[in-house]
Amino acid sequence: MRKKIYVLDAAAVLHGFPIGEEKHEIVMSEKTMEEVISKKEILDLYLNIGKLKKAKPSDSCVKQVIDVAKETGDYAELTDADVDTIAIALTYLQLGNDVVLITDDYSIQNVANKLSIQYKPITTTGIKYEIKWVTYCPGCKSKYYDIDENIGICPKCGHTLSRKAVKKLKVK
Ligand SMILES: [Zn+2]
Repeated sequence: MRKKIYVLDAAAVLHGFPIGEEKHEIVMSEKTMEEVISKKEILDLYLNIGKLKKAKPSDSCVKQVIDVAKETGDYAELTDADVDTIAIALTYLQLGNDVVLITDDYSIQNVANKLSIQYKPITTTGIKYEIKWVTYCPGCKSKYYDIDENIGICPKCGHTLSRKAVKKLKVK
């Protein structure tokens, strides 16, 4: 049966996604649960009453997510928990479910978009973001955080470098 499933990343939990009020199925990766220690008690409660489920991605979906993230230049920005979260969404999607990934992370959104996974941000006021620019090489996938913008060529392979903005949640 086709089900509507919400997959939450760490930021979605930290921003207070209303798990208790949601009638659809909500899943998270085990690694994400380990990341949000400050919300452990509430997550354990939701797990116990069956409001929230721990999910595991398939190995092939993890591989697919990593391949796409490397292609888009987002791989270095993703934690293992992020990769698992996107891969879980992809796993459920491939099983024919209606999946929505809840995330405010640009890199996760970018990779999800490439994989045709629907996503929804949960931005509320008062959340602090840090925007940083990263210069990356589309040829050899090297990342340069401190490179002079005027150097347009990858020192490793000679490919033309690209730049993109990365927005990261800042938890004070
Ligand atoms: Zn290069």
